[in-house]
Amino acid sequence: MKEVLILSGKGGTGKTSIVGSFAHMAENKILVDCDVDASDLHLLLAPRPREEHDFYSGIKARVVTDKCSACGLCAELCQFEAVTMTETAAISSFSCEGCGVCAHFCPEQAIVLDENHCGSWYISDTAYGPLVHAQLFAGEENSGKLVSYIKNQARQLAEATMAELILIDGSPGVGCPVIASLSNVDMALIITEPSLSGQHDLERVLDLANHFKLPAMVCINKWDLHPEMSGEIAGTCHTRGVEILGKIPFDQMVVTCQIQGVPVTDSCNSLAAYSIQKLWNRLQKKL
Ligand code: SF4
Ligand code: SF4
Repeated sequence: MKEVLILSGKGGTGKTSIVGSFAHMAENKILVDCDVDASDLHLLLAPRPREEHDFYSGIKARVVTDKCSACGLCAELCQFEAVTMTETAAISSFSCEGCGVCAHFCPEQAIVLDENHCGSWYISDTAYGPLVHAQLFAGEENSGKLVSYIKNQARQLAEATMAELILIDGSPGVGCPVIASLSNVDMALIITEPSLSGQHDLERVLDLANHFKLPAMVCINKWDLHPEMSGEIAGTCHTRGVEILGKIPFDQMVVTCQIQGVPVTDSCNSLAAYSIQKLWNRLQKKL
């Protein structure tokens, strides 16, 4: 079983359209959406959840108000200013870091430490195969843990169904969820676009892949919108010894298909669809 991760240094490179097209073309695979903060892929794949599970991570303190004598000790001790005093103590779950100091010193044993319910994860059916995905609640900060968790769930599902490929849509940027998504994958394909910010973000993702010794290749999407910049990006890749696996031209059909909620390769014989098919064929040969 192989794992392929599709990344982009930032949003707006067209990564979702490409992942959606790979999902359409790949056989016997499990799809994973690692963008647990704001997923785009589900807009394209329209998942129908067959399993929904709570995700817990970390600890939050909670006051049992019946027991609280309002002595104020917890508010004095909390280093994170998570406690406010009214008739009883009240703890803000956003500010609480779960250190447990308040619970330890409360003279009335009026504070309990709960596991933090911070999101949900799903196994869904799509027209292009099973999708493991998740949603972190607003303001929660455990995206890296949740990404690791759903990747493990995807591996278990792949083993149970004898899938040969796990196709992972990474989250944008180079933060915790991206680092978590890199672990144990066989190859990363980085989607970039011909702009200064695209080049800058590509280099940051390449540095990250290099740091984790992960084989990485590059695809320049919408390359013909700025051929000179595409040439510069190709030069950067050449200097770093990174292969450009494909270039995809700008194609209005990609936008049209996105609005219709279908991968471009499943819709028409456009120029972009042809280039994505070629890209997919090359990627398969590299695995
Ligand atoms: S330390 Fe305990 S009893 Fe005192 S205010 Fe806090 S929760 Fe209430
Ligand atoms: S667990 Fe720690 S951070 Fe949370 S309210 Fe208690 S003292 Fe403050």
